[in-house]
Amino acid sequence: MSSSGTPKRYGVVGHPIAQSRSPFIHQTFGRQAAIDLTYEKILAPLDGFAQTVHEFFGQGGAGLNITVPFKEQAFELARAHLSERARLAGAVNTLWMRDGRLHGCNTDGVGLLTDLERLGHGPKGKSVLLVGAGGAAKGVVLPLMDAGCARLRVVNRTAARAHGLRAHAVEQLPALADRLGAGGLDEAGGQWDIVINATSGSLHDTPPELPPGLYAQGALAYDMVYAAAPTAFLRQARDQGAAHAADGLGMLVGQAAAAFRIWHGLMPDVQPVLEALRRELHYT
Ligand code: NAP
Repeated sequence: MSSSGTPKRYGVVGHPIAQSRSPFIHQTFGRQAAIDLTYEKILAPLDGFAQTVHEFFGQGGAGLNITVPFKEQAFELARAHLSERARLAGAVNTLWMRDGRLHGCNTDGVGLLTDLERLGHGPKGKSVLLVGAGGAAKGVVLPLMDAGCARLRVVNRTAARAHGLRAHAVEQLPALADRLGAGGLDEAGGQWDIVINATSGSLHDTPPELPPGLYAQGALAYDMVYAAAPTAFLRQARDQGAAHAADGLGMLVGQAAAAFRIWHGLMPDVQPVLEALRRELHYT
């Protein structure tokens, strides 16, 4: 609640945005913590992201989540006041105003890590293949390395973008160079304990064109996209011998919880929200 007695205003900006579950998640977290808030979906025009953000905060908005395809633009907008996570990621998914200045953080990495731990596939000591090099992939590379994965390779349809992501990470932390690789999708070969799909292909029911034989014994296939039925990537992974499969619903709730903590100073309980969302997904 703001000092004027009206609930504080939050939202998520993307294009498209209709599919977003963030309002449900934040409103449920708010009820858990007895915090009165509003949280809305905001469709920004593809060429109008900055204006949308400025209007929202100009009208007294308190915080925004940012989703596809604007995380890199959000990074630029908050460039003067970034958390270390956001600076290392080069992408922002959480914005807030403090003392009249726009601040940015990236909570995708924390969301992914807490979900991998919840699933019993923490990355420590594991070989990890990360498919995709957009805003979501950027947010998780350094947290995965930090969590102690043995090696990480980033592959992308546009190989140059994967190389750029690796170069950015190594520039920030040169010690990563030996454990971090990059290439095109055809350079994904090897045996991996965890294969993470950070492409948006599953939104269009298209799996990335990966070579066969990627999954080590007991490996996990993880798709950042979530759906009521197994995504195109998870079906491909099962066909190629992945022992375990999970979608990104837990990551979604985990990144939202970390954003909620930034805005409200409280860590919500994610499990009941995750269970409610999973039920809702099956009935819609
Ligand atoms: P983005 O910045 O637009 O990047 C899209 C990525 O997908 C690029 O690497 C792109 O490759 C690749 N791609 C798209 N279509 C492809 C195809 N048919 N085959 C192979 N690669 C393809 O998007 P983003 O922000 O990184 O988000 C990626 C996905 O993660 C989205 O679906 C988003 O919903 C999901 N996500 C989920 C969570 C969660 O909490 N669960 C959090 C963040 C993101 P090119 O570079 O070659 O174009």
